Amino acid sequence: MVKYLNRMDRSKFVKLITFSIPTIKSTFALADEGPEAVNDRVATTLRTVRKVLNSSTQKVSAELTVRRALPASGQRVVDPFVLMDIMGPVDMQPGEGAFVPPHPHRGFEPVTILFEGSAEHKDSLGNHARLDSGDVQWMTAGAGIVHSEDMGKNFVSKVRRFHGIQLWVNLPKAHKDAAPGYQNISAKDIPVYEEENGKIKVRVIAGEFCDLKGPAKTFTPITALHLKLGPGAVLSVPLPGDHNALVQVLQNDMNLGEGKRAKQGQMVLYNNDGEHILITTPEENTTDTDLLLLAGKPINEPIYAYGPFVMTNKAEIKKAYADYQAGKMGKIDF
Ligand code: MN
Repeated sequence: MVKYLNRMDRSKFVKLITFSIPTIKSTFALADEGPEAVNDRVATTLRTVRKVLNSSTQKVSAELTVRRALPASGQRVVDPFVLMDIMGPVDMQPGEGAFVPPHPHRGFEPVTILFEGSAEHKDSLGNHARLDSGDVQWMTAGAGIVHSEDMGKNFVSKVRRFHGIQLWVNLPKAHKDAAPGYQNISAKDIPVYEEENGKIKVRVIAGEFCDLKGPAKTFTPITALHLKLGPGAVLSVPLPGDHNALVQVLQNDMNLGEGKRAKQGQMVLYNNDGEHILITTPEENTTDTDLLLLAGKPINEPIYAYGPFVMTNKAEIKKAYADYQAGKMGKIDF
């Protein structure tokens, strides 16, 4: 019943579970199997929480302060994810926001997920794009790219809410010199799984969920799901057992079991001890819980991240700086 839930199984599953995580094992006894058999299977398929990490405040530039979710205290990376910054949610006045001038990247994929607001992107490949609420930008820095980002400072003249995430996905050494690339993914091209009249909403950015395939093309297998869950929601997400997995709490909170909750800004890191993650939200919530679920096959290679580059050793970082200074990563001349 639990292992790989298709659409039909899932609705049955949701009806069965009316309690929160602490009582989940006894709840499974409601299924038509005996409680022992069900408990055995749950024990091998449901991932347990490894730890809950706190984000920290980081001043990235004079204009931009973010919540840094990764690296976190006691957790340098969640391979293949090497950095995650959360911007907002914040209400911005006209002229507010940040402009990040042209800068290079090499050796990884810089990803921007814009939940609310607008941003403008330019890069050395000649791309000039505008992102709006719900849009995703999946860049491949590969051998080298130069880009600039404007979070509405210079082109939005009204009060607006800004909320987004910047994520760095590592590339295997064999692909660090890949040709740079740019995927501009419009919100309308991101499939949405919905059930219970919108109580559960899953936007599939990368990877798969319930037969829906995310549009982002990735070098290594990645799952990126943006979840909006109403009060008392129960969601099971199947994931390959060897993929590292985390849930970042963007707004409101989610259950952790035994009455505990993960709150806004916290990251829940899971053990690789099962084939699905079960997410539930408190019944007493009055607003939706907003979460980002990320999972990926670990690359298991040395990571040497310095400044805007993610390589495997110090010599490669030095080479990256030299190549950038020699103009080998291109420039923005428009
Ligand atoms: Mn950048």
